Amino acid sequence: MSRKKIVAGNWKMNKTLQEAEALVKEVLSSETPGDVVKIFFPPFPYINSVSNLIYDYQNGFHCGAQNCHYNDSGAFTGEVSAKAAASVGARYVLIGHSERRIMHKEGPEFLKLKISRCLENNLVPVYCIGEMLPGREANKHFGIVERQLEEVMFNFSVDDVRKIVVAYEPVWAIGTGKTASPEEAGEMHSFIRNRIAHHYNEEIANAISILYGGSCNAQNAKALFATKDIDGGLIGGASLQASDFVSIINSF
Ligand code: PEP
Repeated sequence: MSRKKIVAGNWKMNKTLQEAEALVKEVLSSETPGDVVKIFFPPFPYINSVSNLIYDYQNGFHCGAQNCHYNDSGAFTGEVSAKAAASVGARYVLIGHSERRIMHKEGPEFLKLKISRCLENNLVPVYCIGEMLPGREANKHFGIVERQLEEVMFNFSVDDVRKIVVAYEPVWAIGTGKTASPEEAGEMHSFIRNRIAHHYNEEIANAISILYGGSCNAQNAKALFATKDIDGGLIGGASLQASDFVSIINSF
């Protein structure tokens, strides 16, 4: 079963428009494999420009949004809907990134609604899950991740769930320089795939791409991507440098 290989760059709240365009142009002019889906997640104001830059290029490049609101429109000052993100060229949306769960108190009810809005607008939700350090230290990480799957993703139908991409991001590894080892990440990815097979079926479990995120970089990507059940990466810090991002894309 061949799942999509994906490398996605989450720029978070970084870069000006000019810096964003320069980064995208440098990545586009580099040699990258056509069979890897490559996604830029810039801040909202640059989605349209980034989408226009990659539109002519194609070769598996896409643009995404780092978040969306759970309504399509309305009196929500400062928010951006999935529909609006789609209208400026986004094709993917990060849902439930740990920074949003922690800083914006996003819980399962909101996340379910956000995924629904994405699916209605033909956007691929990248559902982010992962335990915090105390959970890992208390050896509760499998239970925590299982609950994050059950409370949100497992509410979707067989037809919808297959459109979701999962990103396992242990929170203790995000932005800390501490990466999960290929063994630690691999056992969690296999666990996630098994839970999907148990709740739905093997065919669905084998079709869903599961990305690793958490201090993945040009040095460690190869070992992580070579690990069973790891289908690519969601990259934060290392996606801000074109050369690093390109070398991660070339790590399969
Ligand atoms: C992220 O924020 O999704 C992430 C993986 O960040 P970093 O690569 O910087 O740890």
